[in-house]
Amino acid sequence: MAKILLVEDEVQIQELVQVNLEKDGFTVINALNGEQGLELARRDKPDLIILDLTLPLIDGFDVIKTLRAQKDTQAIPIIILNASDDVMDKIIGLELGADDYLSKPFSPRELSARIKARLREVQRKTDTKDSPLRWGGLEISKESYTVTLAEEPLNLTVKEFELLVLFVTNPYQVFSREYLIQKIWGNLSGTGTRALDVHISHLRNKLKSLGPVLDSVRGVGYTFVRRV
Ligand code: CA
Repeated sequence: MAKILLVEDEVQIQELVQVNLEKDGFTVINALNGEQGLELARRDKPDLIILDLTLPLIDGFDVIKTLRAQKDTQAIPIIILNASDDVMDKIIGLELGADDYLSKPFSPRELSARIKARLREVQRKTDTKDSPLRWGGLEISKESYTVTLAEEPLNLTVKEFELLVLFVTNPYQVFSREYLIQKIWGNLSGTGTRALDVHISHLRNKLKSLGPVLDSVRGVGYTFVRRV
């Protein structure tokens, strides 16, 4: 379950937030001042930080600055929980790199909903960044521009790679030749359909062991796996 670091010096609010977040299944760690907040952020690597702005020792703005400047804490989402509804506070906080802002008094349910929204966003980002595309023994890493087929590396040119990614992310979709050329080569290159057909034929060859996955659709273009 997600671990939330709560940096808040008012004990009443700290308790209120903690009780409500724990009810929602979060693990909460507490810091009562900015210095402790920074220390726990580094040590415990929380999934998200809830930060009060008026704090003893190091104030919330400086906490944000420091968190964003350090490699191991710079990506942790921060939600500011501020005593005032001051617009400048909000602007400065967000510009320093906080992700969201709530003013006191706040609804614990709203806080919880916003935390979940942030965590979902982080999850989406990690998903699209790290997880390889998979299709029937193919594994495509967009990060490293590599493809394996049945765990054997497949040597593709950049254009072949881009075509394959487009096809695998849109199976059954019929792409026109014009669309593919524009998408892969850009419309200024003057690339003709011949170049596209050659690339497709090379790609087919390299994917031979998958069976006929790259179909021609007469008069239109190509599709990755014809819908039956
Ligand atoms: Ca405070």
